[in-house]
Amino acid sequence: MKIHSIDTGLFKLDGGAMFGVVPKSMWQKLNPPDANNMCTWAMRCLLVEDGNRLVLVDNGIGEKQDEKFRGHFYLHGDDTLEKSLRRLGFSSSDITDFFLTHLHFDHCGGSVQRRPDGALQTAFANATYWSNEARWNWATHPNAREKASFLRENILPIQESGQLQFVNLAQGVPDALPQFSDLIFADGHTEKMMVPVLHYKGRTLAYMADLLPSVAHLPLPYVMSYDVRPLVTLGEKETVLRRAAQENWVLLLEHDPTHEACTVQLTDKGVRLDQTLRLSDL
Ligand SMILES: [Zn+2]
Repeated sequence: MKIHSIDTGLFKLDGGAMFGVVPKSMWQKLNPPDANNMCTWAMRCLLVEDGNRLVLVDNGIGEKQDEKFRGHFYLHGDDTLEKSLRRLGFSSSDITDFFLTHLHFDHCGGSVQRRPDGALQTAFANATYWSNEARWNWATHPNAREKASFLRENILPIQESGQLQFVNLAQGVPDALPQFSDLIFADGHTEKMMVPVLHYKGRTLAYMADLLPSVAHLPLPYVMSYDVRPLVTLGEKETVLRRAAQENWVLLLEHDPTHEACTVQLTDKGVRLDQTLRLSDL
């Protein structure tokens, strides 16, 4: 099995929203904002190559949104999903399984593409798309607070294509995805987000999605304002980070603008950064 980081480009989000109750005087040292208080974040996905299976986890913001939408998020950088796949010798039709941690637009926008005639179609023609039922219902019947993060055009064509399958919450990892050793279900950021855990080169890896967007979010109170249940996030983060420190997990960071991954350690102040690293260092 080989695991790769897949960069799909950079975007900007409001620093205040990304750090919740933490004052700007503290977070601005960790991710310096521009004149509009916007900070740069990555959309870094995961590709698992295992025999004849090619599993992609999340896929960035995609390329079908109009200029106005893209302008709100200052998309920049040279990387796209297509380019990053091609660099490894793959194309989107090679993906056998696409795994959605959750359905916010910056994680699933590449799921569906617009054809030249304007019609929408799934971007991975030969893939099973994995979500879970609770998550799907939450996204297709959104609450007013999260509504802007769930774009119908990213979500509905997946179901219409017949390619959608649900992970059984009681069972955890589906038999069809033996590349994952575990799935952590988290409800603080949004209902039933899924964090895949993998064993790789003698290490345990967790793709943290929005449970830990960047190393700057390691201290427990550093929780995004987007989270629907921030106190639940605190508890979920504490449990996962303590285990990660004790078992020396490698945490893969989807939104960290510079660091692909990190390890953590237990200190007097709680769990803190140990080292930053790249997947290729393993
Ligand atoms: Zn999210």
